[in-house]
Amino acid sequence: MIEVKNLVKRYGDKKAVNDISFKVERGEILGFLGPNGAGKSTTMNMLTGYISSTSGQILINGTDILEDPKKAKANIGYLPEIPPLYVDMTVDGYLNFVYDLKKCKLSRKAHLKDVCDLCKISDVRSRLIKNLSKGYRQRVGLAQALINNPPVLILDEPTVGLDPNQIIEIRTLIKKLGKRHTVILSSHILPEIQAVCDRIIIINKGVVAADGTADEIAKSITNEHKMTLRIEGPTHTASDKDMIVTALRAVDGVKYVRADMERERGVYDYDVETDGKTDVRRAINALCSEKGWNILMLQLSDLTLEDIFLKITMGEQIGSDKGNDSKPRPRINLVFDNSSETENAASDKGSENAEASADDNGGEK
Ligand code: ADP
Repeated sequence: MIEVKNLVKRYGDKKAVNDISFKVERGEILGFLGPNGAGKSTTMNMLTGYISSTSGQILINGTDILEDPKKAKANIGYLPEIPPLYVDMTVDGYLNFVYDLKKCKLSRKAHLKDVCDLCKISDVRSRLIKNLSKGYRQRVGLAQALINNPPVLILDEPTVGLDPNQIIEIRTLIKKLGKRHTVILSSHILPEIQAVCDRIIIINKGVVAADGTADEIAKSITNEHKMTLRIEGPTHTASDKDMIVTALRAVDGVKYVRADMERERGVYDYDVETDGKTDVRRAINALCSEKGWNILMLQLSDLTLEDIFLKITMGEQIGSDKGNDSKPRPRINLVFDNSSETENAASDKGSENAEASADDNGGEK
């Protein structure tokens, strides 16, 4: 449905997008993720035909966007971050205007009713757009993108500025739309991407840094698996902690151990990372039973999307045996160079998630 081949965009000497290629199939919801300055908007703008590429090709439903922009664009419904609304018009007036602009051939009355019902704006059709709440405006923006029933929907940060209820509504709607349309969703909100998207492309410094499901990418970037153990030592004092950390580190397959918070008096949590090949649970159980320590909790925790995002975009060093296994991997091009001017994920928009995750990781290896 969408095919992007070796796409490059230069601004002067700077390559904002540097040889990006990917495909999106019919009925797929693709999340487009990346830190500020990564090249997301530039790519979106090329996909929608708003700016031209320096080189490379974009095919929308088989049509080259530069060779036949009219035909290619007819396949796309676009919701930019700031919806292009004429606020002095009524919702109905505006949607009729878009209908005419798109030279829509579908039955006007029935089609506009369908779109309004789908976007839940039927009750405000006669209202002036300037008097609508942000959530309603966003839904009117989505409605204009849906007019003429385009097979491809490109949505740029569709939930920015909405309240939690409105966010849930828009996400539910996007999920529903994904059944009938190919959707590309750009967002810096990681849980949103995880909740809505079938597949994720992480773009960093103008290149595709990872492409796959969150699980696939997590497995590709590291063989490590994480778990948290709560262990009760013999003396119920802090000296148990060092002894237990040392013993856990000696278990075959364990790569990293860090003592975390004291959960009960003298009882600590331990974050353990393994090489991903060895199931260390039995060995740890045997160790604890031999020493007379009690395991009060064992919780397996896979990498979150935040962990993945940080590892890819902030150049965090990952497992030492990275790349040595022979398992098939999703297409991935890891970029660990942190030296460029690109703003990192912990700045500006993505800071909440990025910071939360950085705390979780602790930084110890
Ligand atoms: P994102 O949407 O991921 O935040 P952008 O696509 O906006 O990133 O920008 C990618 C890079 O290209 C950035 O370094 C940005 O400064 C640069 N850039 C974007 N638009 C222009 C422009 N019109 N002229 C010069 N540089 C630009």
